Amino acid sequence: MSRFITVVEVGPRDGLQNESVLLEPAEKLDFIARLEACGIQRIETVSFVNPRRVPQMAGAEEIAAALSPTVGRSRIGLVLNLKGWERAVASGCDEANVVVCASDGFGIRNQGSTTDEQMAVLAQIMDLKKAQGGPPVTMTLSTAFGCPFDGEIAQDRVASLCQEAAALGVDEVAIADTIGAADPWMVHRRVEAVRKVIGDKRLRLHFHDTRNTGLANAYAGIEAGVDILDASCGGIGGCPFAPAATGNIGTEDLVNMLHRGGFETGLDLEGLIQTGQWICERLGKTPPSSLARAGAFSLKAAL
Ligand code: ZN
Repeated sequence: MSRFITVVEVGPRDGLQNESVLLEPAEKLDFIARLEACGIQRIETVSFVNPRRVPQMAGAEEIAAALSPTVGRSRIGLVLNLKGWERAVASGCDEANVVVCASDGFGIRNQGSTTDEQMAVLAQIMDLKKAQGGPPVTMTLSTAFGCPFDGEIAQDRVASLCQEAAALGVDEVAIADTIGAADPWMVHRRVEAVRKVIGDKRLRLHFHDTRNTGLANAYAGIEAGVDILDASCGGIGGCPFAPAATGNIGTEDLVNMLHRGGFETGLDLEGLIQTGQWICERLGKTPPSSLARAGAFSLKAAL
């Protein structure tokens, strides 16, 4: 049997969060429904941030309420603080993805707190979950391969933060290349270092394609034994304030590479290509993903 790779779709959250066009909750729900129709089983649907700070993520409660619980579907809410956790629990999210920044420079600007403060919040969340219940918690360590403010992030620091999160009892640990600073060899080394300290805890990878290393990094992660990767349909994302920033690796690009390599994903590649084209049209942008441009490889008569 060929190896199964789980693709976690982050387009409705990481993708849309960084686009300048604002979508209504109904349009986001349409996007989510199209992605799930392609076979996506885990999907970041909402972010419980303050919508005044991040207007793209407004309507989280409305979106969560409209998604009726479905067996085999996990709708993930992004959580940055205790308030976000309370909202995730109240909204009935299937998973809460708590973000901890590996660097203080990014953490203070993005979440208004240091890495230590964010780890303390994660610990509080795990305590609350124990006492009052709540969805499974995953921890994503952002800027784990480099920070635009603090520079290089030491591998030991990344490993020890992942170890700490694992010891707190999270269900999954992810390391994220928030700004596209990683290279494939670095990915391999960091995966090995993290794996060593988190035991058999699930490990997920999150890459941005800012410097055209996204798929190479995904390949390196898979070769190093990781079975779970984030991706964003259409490759949407970026940053409205930084023209050179790009989105996550495109879901259709990743799935194409995996299928060509003989891996299983359970996903409909043609459907993903169409969904990527549809969302980019809605956002008024040329799709960043390569598959949106070139299509899947097939035997067509040469022109
Ligand atoms: Zn990201």
